[in-house]
Amino acid sequence: MSRYRAIVVGGGVHGASIFHHLVSAGMDRVLLVERKTVASAATGRSTGIIRHHYSQEVTVRLAMHSSRAFRRFREEIGQDIAYVNNGLLFLAARGEEDALRKCVDQQRRLGVGVDLIRPEDVPRYHPDLVADDVPLAAFELDAGYADPYSVAVGYAKAGEANGGKILLNTRVRDVRKKSGGGFDVTTDSGDFETERVVLAVGAWARAVGARLGIDIPVTPLRLSNAVLELPGGYARTMPTVLDLPNHMYFRPEGGSLLVGNGEGLEDVDPDGFDESLPYGFVEEVSERIVRRFPRCTNASYKTGWRGLDGASPDFHPIVGPVPEVEGLVVCVGMSGHGFKLAPGIGRGVAELVATGGYETIDLTPYAPDRFAKGKALTSLFSMKIAA
Ligand SMILES: Cc1cc2nc3c(=O)[nH]c(=O)nc-3n(C[C@H](O)[C@H](O)[C@H](O)COP(=O)(O)OP(=O)(O)OC[C@H]3O[C@@H](n4cnc5c(N)ncnc54)[C@H](O)[C@@H]3O)c2cc1C
Repeated sequence: MSRYRAIVVGGGVHGASIFHHLVSAGMDRVLLVERKTVASAATGRSTGIIRHHYSQEVTVRLAMHSSRAFRRFREEIGQDIAYVNNGLLFLAARGEEDALRKCVDQQRRLGVGVDLIRPEDVPRYHPDLVADDVPLAAFELDAGYADPYSVAVGYAKAGEANGGKILLNTRVRDVRKKSGGGFDVTTDSGDFETERVVLAVGAWARAVGARLGIDIPVTPLRLSNAVLELPGGYARTMPTVLDLPNHMYFRPEGGSLLVGNGEGLEDVDPDGFDESLPYGFVEEVSERIVRRFPRCTNASYKTGWRGLDGASPDFHPIVGPVPEVEGLVVCVGMSGHGFKLAPGIGRGVAELVATGGYETIDLTPYAPDRFAKGKALTSLFSMKIAA
């Protein structure tokens, strides 16, 4: 039976980032096991928005760290990720003005380039937007977007090139703790022994945890995206708009506009999830976007899709050691906003696995036992995936 020092389960952007960071930290005998192909679940459906507006300091720090990693990705990892630095316009909902002020104060204290702006100034940042229902807005200079598929593939390839091993189209069927320490891992491609296991299994977390006898409180979260073609096009450098009053976001996609939302918790089996977009979504989101951006009145629907992420009870990631099972680490519950955090979280998890502690950013606020300890995290905004 092959023996590994660490097995990472799940080849989304988080599993791939952890895999790369473990290998580049010098750990030998690291295996990544993916049920299908790299980025075949939430990561491959993701909108790829990169922003720093967050309620929790740890998340702002992670977003800053990750943002730097995205900007240097091609040089450091050797993969083009189609990164665009277009900025982000954050539109607060009524009653959330103080929340936005607090959020912006925190970002500025930590070094993010962001300014509060008055509603009447919104069209200076994004021409033709109607913001008469917006009490306060902010513009974030350092925000952008990138291709999540390329990020995951880049990390997976880099980890493999540096000595890690990847098994694709291989499901982990069982993980059993051995009495003398370490784990036996049963997969479709054979059985393995390992000292440590990292679960980065997205929407599958609860089911995989149940096999280990642990409750990972993750519920599948449905997110939907539609691409609209505007007469006259939509420049790829137009800023992303995070529209809290309308619970939606939009950004440029090629010469078109990609609009999405992510609020639907669904108790579905991720294996059987239908990723096609119901037409009702297009009709409903079109109404909202036409109100905000009347140029969309004559837009036509080009394509659309849905994806499932795993949501935690407080919509913040669940990352860290599982106290009941020594050697087991989870990295799940990304709650619809985890792409942009993957470089920083992957690095932190690799540090934890390799050295037993965090060095770059302390991820203990995300600890899996925070719910049992009454330490669930809070969010400033009512749109949950804004977190
Ligand atoms: C439509 C949509 C839009 C989004 N937009 C944004 C955005 O703009 N910005 C942002 O930051 N985030 C966004 N997100 C969220 C972000 O994409 C996710 O948080 C992130 O991709 C999660 O990555 P992951 O690696 O944790 O999970 P996943 O990408 O879901 O990967 C988990 C992997 O585990 C594998 N797996 C499961 N069980 C097993 C098993 N037993 N054995 C082996 N493999 C297994 C699965 O096949 C899967 O590939 C969006 C998500 C969606 C769906």
